[in-house]
Amino acid sequence: MLLSIIVPCFNEEPVVRDSYRRLSQVLQNLTDADYELIFVDDGSTDDTFNILAEIQNGDRHVGVLRLSRNFGHQVAFTAGLEAAAGDAVVIIDADLQDPPELIPEMLRLWREGNHVVYGNRISREGESRFKLITAKIFYRLINRLSETEIPVDTGDFRLMDRRVVEVLLAMPERGRFMRGMVSWVGFRQIAIPYKREPRLAGRSKYPLLKMIQFAMDGIISFSVLPLRLVTMTGFLTICLAIVGIIFAVVDRVFGLYDLRLGRGWASLYVAVLFLGGVQLLSLGMIGEYLGRIYTEVKRRPLYAVQERLGFAATRETRSASEPARTRAKTTF
Ligand code: UDP
Ligand code: MG
Repeated sequence: MLLSIIVPCFNEEPVVRDSYRRLSQVLQNLTDADYELIFVDDGSTDDTFNILAEIQNGDRHVGVLRLSRNFGHQVAFTAGLEAAAGDAVVIIDADLQDPPELIPEMLRLWREGNHVVYGNRISREGESRFKLITAKIFYRLINRLSETEIPVDTGDFRLMDRRVVEVLLAMPERGRFMRGMVSWVGFRQIAIPYKREPRLAGRSKYPLLKMIQFAMDGIISFSVLPLRLVTMTGFLTICLAIVGIIFAVVDRVFGLYDLRLGRGWASLYVAVLFLGGVQLLSLGMIGEYLGRIYTEVKRRPLYAVQERLGFAATRETRSASEPARTRAKTTF
């Protein structure tokens, strides 16, 4: 069988050599599986691509996919999934936060009949308290909101069966919250607990703003509950308004409450401001969905490839060791 490993890299100059070395060590020891190692250079501006090209030059197992610019982590490994030919595919970060040594165990669980083996972080070293807390809240929140059950504390480090990969590639959405999409696919999925290590070198490519964006993408692509919340807020406001209207009319006609002239300004002011706020917020919420619908309907390709290195060679390796498989090529 052929195992594909996908490693998305964005400005990972200080770590790619080490990740290549550690991954190769593990993969070379797999006795019953051939492997291909696919590095996806997600528009790095440092020396990452040259280093990858050099690595590729010396190892027939390696393929390099260079995207035309930075498309983001989720799209980068989607590009890798499209290029992968393996019967099983593993996605792993370049910074060695996810231990490659777990791959044989994942493979064993796959052979036992599981279609997805996902890494479940029991601890995370070297991350800021803020990231830990927000991540914890986020995974629980999205699980509550979403109709698809998305396992908590699970990143993108996972092994997937060819069948799962095909379904993922047939999912045409541009907003790709992959951990949710994999849960949506179904099949037999199993968790494998692990300790997340600190980054080997370099800095995280997910600054706060990108993290918020990612979280919003995740929630919006997997839940319409925020929209329903808007409706509910509207409903509640109408109920309050009816009470207010009755109060005002009765007072106007019968003068029951003896409101002196000049009073009532504060309540009017508060009500107008508050309702204005609620309306803008609701519009914004609807806008978030609308904007995403707009990106979806444009149906642009997900990414563009600038260069491919070594793919012909890996394909040859496969067809030499295995009967050729016909694979439905998914085009977006
Ligand atoms: N990455 C990428 N494109 C991006 C951002 C990140 O390909 O736009 C890669 C990055 O090189 C790394 C992985 O995605 O291999 C995870 O990123 P990072 O380690 O920075 O995220 P963190 O672990 O801090 O959440
Ligand atoms: Mg990382």
